[in-house]
Amino acid sequence: MSKIKAEYLWIDGNEPTRTLRSKTKVMDEGADPPVWGFDGSSTNQAAGESSDCVLSPVFTCPDPIRGGKNIIVMCEVLNTDMTPHETNTRAACAGAAERYTSHECIFGIEQEYTFFDGIKPLGWPDNGFPAPQGGYYCGVGADEVYGREIVEEHMDACMKAGLEISGINAEVMPGQWEYQIGPVAAPAVADQIWVSRWLLYRIAESYGVSAKLDAKPVKGDWNGAGAHTNFSTKSMRESYGPIEAAMAALEAKHMDHIENYGAGIPERLTGLHETCPWSEFRWGVSDRGASIRIPWQVKRDGKGYLEDRRPNANCDPYVVTQMMIETICSHAESI
Ligand code: ADP
Ligand code: MN
Ligand code: MN
Ligand code: MN
Repeated sequence: MSKIKAEYLWIDGNEPTRTLRSKTKVMDEGADPPVWGFDGSSTNQAAGESSDCVLSPVFTCPDPIRGGKNIIVMCEVLNTDMTPHETNTRAACAGAAERYTSHECIFGIEQEYTFFDGIKPLGWPDNGFPAPQGGYYCGVGADEVYGREIVEEHMDACMKAGLEISGINAEVMPGQWEYQIGPVAAPAVADQIWVSRWLLYRIAESYGVSAKLDAKPVKGDWNGAGAHTNFSTKSMRESYGPIEAAMAALEAKHMDHIENYGAGIPERLTGLHETCPWSEFRWGVSDRGASIRIPWQVKRDGKGYLEDRRPNANCDPYVVTQMMIETICSHAESI
């Protein structure tokens, strides 16, 4: 029997922002990846005297880094009695998606991130700052963008893994980039975001660069990093009314969402740099200073989707998608 390498990924208990962990299992080619375990006392998920946590596979894809028949196995963390661990946010996301399955919710998540070379963003001078923002967004040239070879390799890896990556672009702050995953249903879209994040860290690592999801990596007049979450139900894809109807529901639950959209929201949602202040809720067509934006083509076509601009780059996409489903679909059923 020939053997393959399976890279098991899971989300730890780190505070305030969870991080990814992984380890390798050598297993028989073609076999289903089995349930496995890890030492939860080393990941802030268990006490030393009862340290075992369970890794339960939820999503498997080809490993584009090791190639061949090797695989990546995204897992959720369970207790030894097979109930969801308290750090497991996927279980509730899957539950919400199941409850509202008739709404056929889909998501496209824009994952922004920043490359770091040691303590400074990649390409920044050792002392001081680069030229002010203006030419970097979707820029080209060695004085405008930094790390493109990593970005290209990451995009290829996501495609080889079969993830639904839909594009990449250089961002407003130099060293900052974005890719998008979707449109895909939950919880799969979030599984894919977590796997794509791991691929990003792993590929950047081989260049001696660290990719970071900090929401406001540089203080001052520099854009933060978000995870705009584009959302539609079947009825939104058919007509415009349900899109505007969702705004009242999102407004009523604004602070709940803000509190669960990632660490450091007040630093990023200031009202500057294409954001709405965290303490306000506003929606608008084409408005990049709103909490929720309706793209102009959606208004023109009279159907489509909405963009929640509030989630931080460091958000947990299981939590964001779960909350959007529950807030919007429960309201749609009540009117
Ligand atoms: P922006 O103009 O905000 O930068 P992007 O092109 O980066 O927009 O991202 C738009 C996202 O919207 C893509 O990830 C795409 O998959 C997603 N999207 C498109 N149509 C829908 C839809 N009907 N429902 C949910 N998401 C959608
Ligand atoms: Mn975008
Ligand atoms: Mn962006
Ligand atoms: Mn956007």
